[in-house]
Order: sequence, then structure tokens, then C-alpha cells
Amino acid sequence: MKTIKFNYKKFINQIFIALSVLLLIALIFAYLNSAFEDPKTLTLSELVSKINSGDVSKIVVKNDDLDVILKDDSIYVAKKEIGSSLSGTLKNYGVDSEKLNAVDMRIEQNVGVIFWVGTVLPIILPFLLIGLLVWYMMRQANRANTSAFGFGKSQAKLFGPFDGKKKIMFSDVAGANEAKEELIEVVDFLKNPKKFLDIGARIPRGVLLVGAPGTGKTLLARAVAGEANVPFFYISGSEFVEMFVGVGASRVRDLFNMAKKFAPSIIFVDEIDAVGRQRGAGLGGGHDEREQTLNQILVEMDGFDRDTNVIIISATNRPDILDPALLRPGRFDRRIALDIPDINDREAILKIHSIGKPLAPDIDLRRIAERTPGFSGADLANVINEGAISTARQNKKIVDQETLYHSIEKVLLGPERRSHLLSQKEKEIASYHEAGHALIAGVLPYSDPVHKISIVSRGRAAGYTLKLPLEDRHLHSKNEFLTDLAVLLGGYAAEKIVFKDLTTGASDDLIKATALARRLVTEFGMSEKFGPIALGEKEEMVFLGRDFGNDKNYSESVAELIDKEIKNFILVAYETAKKVISQRRKKLKKIAERLIEKETIERDEFETIMAAA
Ligand code: ADP
Ligand code: MG
Ligand code: ZN
Repeated sequence: MKTIKFNYKKFINQIFIALSVLLLIALIFAYLNSAFEDPKTLTLSELVSKINSGDVSKIVVKNDDLDVILKDDSIYVAKKEIGSSLSGTLKNYGVDSEKLNAVDMRIEQNVGVIFWVGTVLPIILPFLLIGLLVWYMMRQANRANTSAFGFGKSQAKLFGPFDGKKKIMFSDVAGANEAKEELIEVVDFLKNPKKFLDIGARIPRGVLLVGAPGTGKTLLARAVAGEANVPFFYISGSEFVEMFVGVGASRVRDLFNMAKKFAPSIIFVDEIDAVGRQRGAGLGGGHDEREQTLNQILVEMDGFDRDTNVIIISATNRPDILDPALLRPGRFDRRIALDIPDINDREAILKIHSIGKPLAPDIDLRRIAERTPGFSGADLANVINEGAISTARQNKKIVDQETLYHSIEKVLLGPERRSHLLSQKEKEIASYHEAGHALIAGVLPYSDPVHKISIVSRGRAAGYTLKLPLEDRHLHSKNEFLTDLAVLLGGYAAEKIVFKDLTTGASDDLIKATALARRLVTEFGMSEKFGPIALGEKEEMVFLGRDFGNDKNYSESVAELIDKEIKNFILVAYETAKKVISQRRKKLKKIAERLIEKETIERDEFETIMAAA
């Protein structure tokens, strides 16, 4: 939530303003004083003698003050005796009556501007000033208050035709052609609503972008705004939900009102699963914050008139957990799937992201695309970026192919940790461990080719054996999975056979292998015992949700059988691994020794070793 922070800069500013106001007032006073004290004061006897000598042309009487103006236009002031008349006083001082008659006498009530400025202002000004300061401070406090209580306002960020930022267009999004086609239609709705309304078509309310993280959902939504050239309100689902109950709903209301004012416009709710989960899944009844927010979204979407030209785009990578009410017609009735890019799209994405980066003339992005199956758009953007960074770090000016190959591994496995030194013994164990993985991958059919073996630790992995498929695959066979299992256990088997001991280095492999085996049994129907049946663990528990204690669609006895099947798969894979390694101890040794010596083996060298007798 937005906290009321003590803002030093503002505080100092306010003090500064107050001080300058005070200074100004002081100056005004000084000026006024000098203006009114400038005339010299005459005593009454001096005045009388001036009158008698005929120098005085005019006397202005204001109560007890006298302004005396001489014939030479100089001005003096004098005071008459309090309570007595001026002429009486002057006579007492022996004035010549004739001369006095010649003087222009005027009696003024003290009401002129001068009186106000000179007399009243100095008295009321301090009060005025204090009042002003109090008012100013109250206003400030008020403002702070309203912002403290203003968290119901939507926090949406507005991008629009007017914000002057570089617009994202469809041309900035590589691949994803089907998605683009669908969205072009949406743009058309926003641009020419009349065309559709005239034949009675209902403008779609909501478009749901579904896809794995990094596949360009956010990017595409912004491209729609760019193409349609309309205001684009961006908010992330999690921003609706804050500490205070009711905030989410009021934010939704605020956001939709704003969007309607700006229509035609686009509201983009990113990561909508944060608020759009199935209702009724929370503990403590159906009244949690998220639910109210979701309800409000539904209400707002229904509340649109048929011709309100606001389209809501939202994105999620978990469409399976969304509330069904969100998906019914009239709400997010269009669903657009974004896939992990295939090789052509990968090449195109790499091309887009290498714009503006100096690439070596012989660079072959196709080769990079070949080596990056399964990478998302974001991963690919990252590859190019890492390439640029390490090029700059080496003080080179041009990104070359080799650097990009290295960035692929960096993105895949995390940065190399060359400082993470292995002792001689550890190095030996790691080498045999990786050699075990590689050997099995090299021997068994159905395995993806080994691209690289290394005992340089990366991220969390102590060493790694990198296998990459030759082409994109959408289907995986049971044989491939069984091979994968054996390869995963290759490190473990090699350690056991060579050193007759085990290390913690295999723990990650075991976790992966067990998870894979479980999926074979429960998801893919690849176990002979169970056959074609999906044994569902229900979706994750939503905050101890309704599925608490009831998260399986099978009984305890079946669970036991599943565990047995998983164990069976693992054991078979382990036997396979042990057999392969025992039969090829020499080859294993050759690979391991090469690793101890060089730390990495590339694909070509590995294949030469494997091909040798
Ligand atoms: P998400 O699907 O998780 O919202 P984003 O849209 O935020 O993914 O994508 C992250 C980044 O990946 C983008 O900013 C962009 O640089 C890059 N990217 C993803 N897909 C593409 C694509 N098809 N074309 C170009 N860049 C892409
Ligand atoms: Mg996103
Ligand atoms: Zn391993």
C-alpha cells in the first residue's frame, strides 16, 4: 500500500517558502516605516515660528497629527496637544492670526488609503499571515490525508497515443502469427466499431492471452494498443489486491470508469490469475478480497453498453485455474494461445532483438535458433542481451557467434562459476558423474545428442551434460522418456560403480528422475499396470482451500500402487544405466579423464570418442 512518507524535500521546501514570506513582510514593514517616518518632526514652537515667517502653505490635521507642507513643498509632521483645538494651541504659542489665516487648513478624518496601509495593515497583517500559514498547512495535511486514503484509486499505468513513448507495433513481435491475426481483428473493432455495430455484431468484451511465461503476452497486448493508437491502461492482477479489504473492488471500479471516459481504449490486466482464480476456493467463506475484486470485474464487464468501445485484454499462464465465470461468452470470450516459438519464430525473434546491436557479419542466427529449442521469446531476448554484455565486458565492439553460443548456456544454466573450485578428488568424482550421463546418452537410442559436457559449475549445477534435440518436438514417446530416466541416473550409477560410494552430487538428478517417473504413471498413461488413465492430483491447494485433505481422485491403495510403479520405473532405468556403464568402463574412463584435463568436451570431440573402438 501507499504509505505516507516523510518527504524531506517537501519539508525543506515548505520551510523555505515560509521564510521567504516572512522576509517579504519584514521588507514591506521596513518600507512602510521609512515612508511614514521620513518627514521631519517639528515642535509646536518651531511650527509657529514657521507660520509666522509665512513659510507654511498648508496644514492637514488628522486627529492629533499634523502634516505641515511648506511653500517649498517640503513636508514636516507635528503633533498638536491632545484634546485641544489646533488654533487654540497655536495661539497659546503666540501665532500671528493673520498669517495663520493665510495657511490652508484642512481637517481630514483618518480614513484614507494611507491610514489603512499605515495603521491598520501593520496590525492585521500578522494575523492574516498566521491565518494563511495555518490554512496552507491544513491544506498540505489534507492532501497527505487524501493520498493516504486514496488507495482505492486504480493504480493503472496509462500508455497512450499522447505519452510520446515509443509505440510497440505488431512488427516488434516476431512470429505468433495466429495470435496476431486474431488481435488485428480486435484493433479493427477499436478503429471502426461502426462497421461491426451496423450489422448487429457484438463487439468482443475481453480477450484472454494464454501462454507460458515469456512468450510475449504483455508485448502483444502493448502492440495492440500501439496499432489501434488508443489509450492503454495497464494494471497487474496483483495490484488489485492489497492489504485493505475492499480496495481491489474500488480499484476495478475506478479503472473501468477511467477507461470508459477515454473510450475507445484498452484495459490490460496482466497476470489475471492473481485475482481470477476460481471463487469459493479460499478458506473462510467466499468473502475474501480476491473474490470481491473478481466479482467487481465481472460486474463491470457486464455493465458495459453494447457499444461501449472498451476492450479488456488480459494475460495468464494458468488458464486452468481461472474462474469459469470469467470465461463465459460476453466476458473473456476470445482466447488466444501463445506457444513457445518454433525454430523459424526463434530466428525471427533473435533478429528483432539484434537490431541496433553490432553483430559480426558472418553471424548465423539460424544456428542459434537451432540450439535453442524450448526457449521462450524472453529467453531469446536474454541470449542476445547476454551476448552484448559479455562482448562489452571483453572490450570488444562486435558480437560474434561464439559469444552467442556461450550466452545460450548462460541463459540455460546460469553463469559459470569458475571460482567455485573443486578439489582434485571432487573433480574426479564430478568427471565420472558427468561422463556417466554422457555415456548413456551417447549409447542409448532415443536420446537427444550430447552438445556439451562440463564440470565447470553453473548456477546450482556442479557440472552438466547438455543434450539438445535436433528439432522442435511437440510429442514425446515412452521410449524417449525411459532413455531420459536412464541418462538421469547415469551419474549416480557411474559414481556407484567407479567409487563404490555415493555423493550428494546426484540429488538433483534423483529429484528430476522421480518427478518424471511420476508423470509417466499418473499423467501420460505409460505404465503397463495402470494403462490409459490419468490419476489426477488436483490443482494446487489454494490457501488451504476446499481441496484440503482431498486432493487426489484415487484411493490410498491406488496411491501405494502408484508409488510402486514409480519405483519400478526408476529401478529399471538404474539397471539400464549400470549395464551400459559396466560394459563400457574404458569409454567412461576416457571421457572422465578428458574432463579432468579439459573441464569441457564439445559435441564433436564427444562423438569422436564414442565412435572410436
Ligand atoms: P509474458 O508472456 O510473460 O508477458 P513478455 O511479453 O513480457 O512475456 O515478454 C518478455 C520479453 O520477451 C519481451 O519484452 C520481448 O523482449 C521478448 N519477447 C517475447 N516474445 C517475443 C516475440 N514474439 N517477439 C519479440 N520479442 C519477444
Ligand atoms: Mg507478462
Ligand atoms: Zn548429474
